[in-house]
Amino acid sequence: QAMSDTISDTLQAMEEERRKLTLAVEKLSLLDQRQKQFIGNVTHEFKTPLTSIKAYLDLLDMYPDDNRLLETAIGTIGSETGRLYEMVEKVLQLSALEKYAFEFSKEKVEVRGVILGVLEGLQGKISKFGLTLQSELNEAFAEADRDSFTIVLVNLLDNAVKYNKPGGVITVRNGVREGKVWIEIADTGIGIPGELADKVFQPFYTVDKNRARENGGAGLGLALARQHAEVQGGAVELVRTDSTGTLFRVTLPAYNAPSI
Ligand code: ADP
Repeated sequence: QAMSDTISDTLQAMEEERRKLTLAVEKLSLLDQRQKQFIGNVTHEFKTPLTSIKAYLDLLDMYPDDNRLLETAIGTIGSETGRLYEMVEKVLQLSALEKYAFEFSKEKVEVRGVILGVLEGLQGKISKFGLTLQSELNEAFAEADRDSFTIVLVNLLDNAVKYNKPGGVITVRNGVREGKVWIEIADTGIGIPGELADKVFQPFYTVDKNRARENGGAGLGLALARQHAEVQGGAVELVRTDSTGTLFRVTLPAYNAPSI
């Protein structure tokens, strides 16, 4: 009897391992597919700023004494370099996703601390735009990856700053409900046209190309935020958006919550 119990336990453990491995392989192949598409797009998107930087450098080479040209060139080269920088940052965030395909263990993450850390990093930008920050933060523990969770927050909060109105407000709240930690990020910005609410999560989608360019956006922030939340068993939803502002909600599995 003892022997057959051992065999049965071993078989069960093997079956569990097989199930985990199948899941990991599925995740990896989905990631692989996404990455290939993404890299194709990124290469294309890199060319636009590089072309304009090169064009200005060529012009300066031809007209080295043209001060007005110099001024425009510095402005454009500056903003296009900013765009390139942001894209490189986002490509790195995408490659960070790969590690989660095989990693099942998750850390106990103190949510409030991570939010405060990200807000601190954005403080400069928040003051520059004359925005007010309101937060209602409660102690909460998520079962998540700290770096990945940080990427989710950085992207959502960065948008709450970028797309806000001058003198606007950013509100951050969090809590725990039904085995999930939730974080809500609200802004008093320009809003997203209702019919585009799903599209904005697609990589490289921007509502207004010109405005996105001014802000240095490549349309990757929301796609990355959602993917990073999903690999951790969470989600990013657009809860409400209109001309008075936008509200996003992140959910992550709560630490020690009974699994459903
Ligand atoms: P980007 O890098 O352009 O900000 P995102 O993927 O983060 O890319 O967002 C996609 C588009 O969704 C943005 O170009 C912007 O038009 C819109 N958007 C995202 N967040 C907000 C927000 N909080 N308020 C208004 N519009 C937003």
